[in-house]
Amino acid sequence: MKFSRLATYYAQLEKTSSLLAMRRILARALKEAGRNEIGMACHLTLGEIASQYSPVNLGMAGQTVIRAIAEAFGREMNDVAATAKKTGDIGLCAEAYASGEGTLDVRTVFTALNEIANVHGQGSQDKKIKRFAELLKKSSPLEARYLARIALGQLRLGLADKTLLDALSIAFAGDNTLREALEHAYNILPDISVIAETLARKGRKGIEAITPKIGTPIQMMLCQRIKTLDEIEERCGFPVTVETKYDGERVQAHKDGKNVTLFSRRLENITHQFPEITEAIRKLPSRRTIIEGEIIALDKKGKILPFQTIMQRRRKHNIAEYARKIPVVLRAFDCLFDGKSLLRQPYEKRYAALRKIVKDGKTLTLAENETCNTAPCAESFFHTVVKEGGEGIVIKKHDGSYQAGVRGWNWIKWKPEYLPKMRDTFDLVVVGAFWGRGRRAGTFGALLCAIYDEKKDEFLTFCKLGSGFTDELLKKIPTMLKAVNEKPARVLAKDITPDVWIAPEKVVEVIGAEVTKSPMHAAGYALRFPRFLRWREKKAEQATTVREVKRMAKK
Ligand code: AMP
Repeated sequence: MKFSRLATYYAQLEKTSSLLAMRRILARALKEAGRNEIGMACHLTLGEIASQYSPVNLGMAGQTVIRAIAEAFGREMNDVAATAKKTGDIGLCAEAYASGEGTLDVRTVFTALNEIANVHGQGSQDKKIKRFAELLKKSSPLEARYLARIALGQLRLGLADKTLLDALSIAFAGDNTLREALEHAYNILPDISVIAETLARKGRKGIEAITPKIGTPIQMMLCQRIKTLDEIEERCGFPVTVETKYDGERVQAHKDGKNVTLFSRRLENITHQFPEITEAIRKLPSRRTIIEGEIIALDKKGKILPFQTIMQRRRKHNIAEYARKIPVVLRAFDCLFDGKSLLRQPYEKRYAALRKIVKDGKTLTLAENETCNTAPCAESFFHTVVKEGGEGIVIKKHDGSYQAGVRGWNWIKWKPEYLPKMRDTFDLVVVGAFWGRGRRAGTFGALLCAIYDEKKDEFLTFCKLGSGFTDELLKKIPTMLKAVNEKPARVLAKDITPDVWIAPEKVVEVIGAEVTKSPMHAAGYALRFPRFLRWREKKAEQATTVREVKRMAKK
């Protein structure tokens, strides 16, 4: 395809503001490019000469392009600079001098620009200028306009990569029926040239068969959010894995033998910024693998440092010095590839693969998590995480696949700011207890608490309290409470039966988010997000009463 053809399409695109019309123009251009040049045409149209994640960079600044224009057309630098200033656009400036016939083709331009990008070292600026001037000399005015803009990274046709996917669908199917398959493939392999070439050569089947390629980042999966932890049941179903949400830098690590590449959430190559992480990944037992995790910085006591601290590691210079100053660790949480793609595998299988690969070391460990069968379990993990400086939790659906580039329900995030404001405190009577699981096995994991009905002199269950306890306190609880064999006479329960009944003697101060109606509890109300504050030296009959709770519920 002649570059002049592409330039003509660009000129049409520049004049168009309708997205629909832009897609059609682009579709025509892509069709014309044909299977051999379609990939290059896609990159150029996005104003790039390689995928966004590849480190290829033309390395030409405004002055360099002005010098190239001057050299190509035998002008003085000052002249060219004045024209650039007058037109306010390097493209129009180059166009003003060019007079070639437009014999360049897309491949020649693309290859030449890549060669320019590859010139490094001493005298590289002069070489780049010379090579670029040769291109300009051959170009027609319109070609020169776009060449100069591409060189400066200022093509700005107003297109995103997603518009190109739309155009590809129109070019090859006549409508948008290929759009979904294309987007899915692009999320797995976000290289527009590979996607376009595969479509041109192998059609829909080829697109559907696209799998991850080590060294090309996979668009990262994101989290949905829920309003209350009770929604977990409906969105994912139990059991789920509840994991610490670290406030650091998301990283996708690709390992191919000794070659390691780290990608940021925006798919930038950040390998050189984190040499200790790169080294830890290199040592993994798998030959070809892709894992994901969060890079965090820790202080000397192992406490997580704020996100801003780790951002100081994002630098081009003094990398070793900052690696010493701000050492980082990786908390791994997923495995997307291990010899073969695991994207379609359920989370449980991917996590099993991850556990096989990652053996806890100094720099690389698994993210902290727990399997939960109930919302209170998730909530209790959440409180522990927040206390230890974590940002919140991520809830992971066990049979959920890895949805590349999608904010789906397979991962759900929950942060403190989602909690309704905790205002009210309650004095509740402990009437039962539940045995703990996981870390809390062998001791009580939650208490059944009641309010007092002063008219009937009864204790009515009101909430299950599972968070706010320290491990130490939990261990002590069984010795503080008097377990009884049967439900005590004055205690009223409804749909919740504890593992152990407790004589209604101990009062506990609890903070809660809100009181809601509840068919599960004898009180007819329940306290949402209850959290232990302290033990009270009060008699059970001095606890919060039904009347008080009713009043609060009306507020
Ligand atoms: P957000 O940026 O609030 O949408 O939350 C999603 C981000 O949380 C991800 O992109 C990760 O960088 C980060 N994150 C921290 N810990 C985890 C974890 N255990 N699992 C998944 N994502 C996590």
